[in-house]
Amino acid sequence: MKGIFHIILTMLTVLLILAPQTNSLLTLESLPAVLLLLLGAFIGSLTPDIDKGKDAAIYHSEIPGAGGKKFHLTPMFGYSIYYTCYKPLQLIFRIIFGKKIYAIHGHRELPHSPIGILLISVLLTLYIWLICFALSFVPYLAFLNNNYLIYHFGAAFLLGCFLHLIEDTCDNSGIHYFYPFSFSRLRGTIKGDGTDINPTVYAVILLFAAVIIFSLTILKFIPAQFAYPLSLLVPIVLWVIFLRASGVPAKKAIRE
Ligand SMILES: [Zn+2]
Repeated sequence: MKGIFHIILTMLTVLLILAPQTNSLLTLESLPAVLLLLLGAFIGSLTPDIDKGKDAAIYHSEIPGAGGKKFHLTPMFGYSIYYTCYKPLQLIFRIIFGKKIYAIHGHRELPHSPIGILLISVLLTLYIWLICFALSFVPYLAFLNNNYLIYHFGAAFLLGCFLHLIEDTCDNSGIHYFYPFSFSRLRGTIKGDGTDINPTVYAVILLFAAVIIFSLTILKFIPAQFAYPLSLLVPIVLWVIFLRASGVPAKKAIRE
């Protein structure tokens, strides 16, 4: 699936998760947490494609589909994650599992697997923790030491990566969920080149759902005790429907 669809589908899913919490999130104190959640999910939504080569969206500051607008944090994270997380992990996997860890067809390998995104997220969070720890010795920056927002960012990053895997499961290349132990892929029938209408339809449905829940929450039609169940259930139910609508599980396609 193309980078632009990963960004749109992931960010809309995150908004849908946050929508029932709107009343508690619309405060000045929660602003840093919300911004870091969105940033983590955004970077995470593009990260699995670091194994795709240098034309992947994460290595470029141009925001796809945003008319030339640039976001310089994207390539900064892209190259940092490539050299400090992906390459060291790939080397360790190569030593343990041998040459079979490389994708034979197509690009999807370590960063396109659950174990890969989990390890990359843990490593990235650890690096950020260490940088914040070092900075905490600077006057006025002591609050950075073991700040809970570091974990917020790490969790949102992992969620962004996980949603990328779910999105790629819909297309005909699929995802090997048991990599590196098994290379059989769970896949759908959507073409990954952006010509299929389905991702656009899914985006519209996610947007509608987010707007409806956001409005109901603001108008206090949703009791507070339903906020967390709704945050969890609505995105899960919608994504199960999207996966089925994408033909998952499909038989192996011609293209890997
Ligand atoms: Zn991908």
